[in-house]
Amino acid sequence: MSADAIKLLKPKVFDKSRWMQFPRDVVIGHDVFGQLPSVCNDLKLGKTALMISGRSTMELAGNRVREILSEHHEVTPFFAEEISRPIIKAAEKAAADADFIIGVGGGRVIDTAKIVSYNLDIQFISVPTAASHDGIASSRASVATEGGHSSLEAQPPIAIVADTGIIASAPHRLLASGCADIISNYTAILDWELANRVKGEPVSEYAIALSKMTAEILVKNAHLIKPHQEQSAWFVIKALVSSGVAMSIAGSSRPASGGEHKFSHALDRLAPGKALHGESCGIGTIISMYLHGGDWRGIRASLKTIGAPVTPAEVGIDDDIAVEALLMAKDIRPERFTIFDMGLTRESAENLVQMLYRE
Ligand SMILES: [Zn+2]
Repeated sequence: MSADAIKLLKPKVFDKSRWMQFPRDVVIGHDVFGQLPSVCNDLKLGKTALMISGRSTMELAGNRVREILSEHHEVTPFFAEEISRPIIKAAEKAAADADFIIGVGGGRVIDTAKIVSYNLDIQFISVPTAASHDGIASSRASVATEGGHSSLEAQPPIAIVADTGIIASAPHRLLASGCADIISNYTAILDWELANRVKGEPVSEYAIALSKMTAEILVKNAHLIKPHQEQSAWFVIKALVSSGVAMSIAGSSRPASGGEHKFSHALDRLAPGKALHGESCGIGTIISMYLHGGDWRGIRASLKTIGAPVTPAEVGIDDDIAVEALLMAKDIRPERFTIFDMGLTRESAENLVQMLYRE
């Protein structure tokens, strides 16, 4: 046998490796802020903290968090009304002497805390006041730039403390948006599997299974998602954490972000400030599911049951903008292959918007 033939027979050397980071303490439920000192103690986070919050979320939850922690910790508040590079820089300066960061607020606050803690290489605790998207538990953060939004590598929270009473008191639109973000896992996975078949992109079966199961459990319980009920907040927060874990397993947002997310980012650029992140992802999931040949009517029915919008018009976006966003989607984060890379034409995009959003 020649040397070449022997080489061919030798099994390929196993050289894979992956570093997975997960939250360590996750406390979800009724009136759980009282457990924050135990969480800090358990994780040995140190004495001084910078608490990043918004003006209204400070009143709603931040002041309480500060009061509870101040017995054993020194907590300095920092207001982040929006997420931008100057605010991130200012927060980093304010956190120079802090041992850890606490983010108390909605998506923007949590994302700011996540980026600051990553840049300073210190831990952060996520205290969400709304369940509006799966960023509360993931390592990715989104920052507004001139060209729209860019997704940054950041730190996953070392702990999540989610009070169902606070989350249930937030506007229902936020919770419904969080549900739509989870429902979009269905098409994110289909896109990932498509990229595997067409481009040979590696997939993680564990991440796919967890992400899909999370969406299925939510859809199965869609009728239980009601405004201002702690039970509903409980369901959604658990699903968002589970989605975040799927992303941690994958080491990327792939299991929870496909073409429908690229469509959502395109809408952010073309019609800024109209739809919430999860809302536009849900609207995009309907079209993506149709293109994948899946049960798009089922997706639409679940979104409706939850109270999430199912047409661009419902969030004040014209059909022609939605058409442009569909065509633009493939150019956003082009390395992420999705169903929108399969040759969608202007004519078919127009027909899709007419057909799927008019029925
Ligand atoms: Zn999302």
